[in-house]
Amino acid sequence: MADTPFFERVALIGIGLIGSSLVRVMRRDGLAGHITVCARKAKTLALAQELGLADHVTDDPLAAVADADLVVLATPIGAYAAIAEAIGPGLKPGAIVTDVGSTKVSVIRHVAPHIPDSVHFVPAHPIAGTEHSGPEAGFDSLFEGRWCILTPPPGTEPRAVEAVAALWRSAGSMIEEMDPAHHDQVLAITSHLPHLIAYTIVGTANDLGDHLQKEVIKFSAAGFRDFTRIAASDPVMWRDVFLENKEAVLEVLGRFTEDLTAMQRAIRRGEGETLEQSFTRTRAIRRDIIEAHQAGTFKPAEPDED
Ligand code: NAP
Repeated sequence: MADTPFFERVALIGIGLIGSSLVRVMRRDGLAGHITVCARKAKTLALAQELGLADHVTDDPLAAVADADLVVLATPIGAYAAIAEAIGPGLKPGAIVTDVGSTKVSVIRHVAPHIPDSVHFVPAHPIAGTEHSGPEAGFDSLFEGRWCILTPPPGTEPRAVEAVAALWRSAGSMIEEMDPAHHDQVLAITSHLPHLIAYTIVGTANDLGDHLQKEVIKFSAAGFRDFTRIAASDPVMWRDVFLENKEAVLEVLGRFTEDLTAMQRAIRRGEGETLEQSFTRTRAIRRDIIEAHQAGTFKPAEPDED
């Protein structure tokens, strides 16, 4: 088992919150000999250089992966298919391609067909994040104490899986291997649905009349504030997550809508016991999350409010 992984040449396609946090780990721990960063905008690439995240920058994904031993896809997942098609012919035999995307079935469907047989594909999803975006948003402790889920297709070379696992362990993550469809179901309830609810509730508040809107901001500490933090997450990234994990999200949304209707009925009928029982059950879940050390983000300068 490799304790400290080392990749001679790394290519990052996308250098936002997640990509730049991973590069900061690589820089901190000397895990990469040379890092090429690819993004579309000149401003993003200039910032990546200014922050010391790249030895070389390019807006051409094919050029970025030339000679790379490790390629990390870290753009919104809607861009993956075109990027995979572009880089496929330029991947070095023996290279490892991995990603950080929030869905896994669609990522494999879009990327795997473009990966040559001589190249290893190890899809990954770090379960860590904030509502901020871009190269300046990253920090090297983002992944500490967090899970990173790997969903390697059957038959993937174990040494390639271990190399990616070792990289995430260096970032402070715990590793779990999972079937991609199972991953998408689990994340639909733990991450995707909560974001959908946050976006919707903040939208509902925004649509209220003028006088109410002002008071929503003024008295936001009464619960609403936590929703606004999640609802400030990157719109493009989340658009792609819902488009790419459609079935699993619709399934949990259906269950949630039924449960919400049951709550609505309990309130209308004045069934206090039903409400209290339900809230008592959910309070225990929060306690379990705290005990599993999954309740906050470890960012020294700006602690998560959670
Ligand atoms: P982000 O901060 O918005 O950064 C996205 C990066 O991708 C930017 O550098 C952007 O630069 C670049 N990019 C976008 N389209 C591109 C294209 N077609 N070709 C090359 N570069 C492109 O995003 P993020 O939050 O790091 O998320 C990245 C991935 O991580 C997503 O797949 C997301 O599902 C996953 N993820 C996110 C979180 C989270 O909480 N944020 C958590 C876990 C996993 P330009 O605009 O200059 O192209």
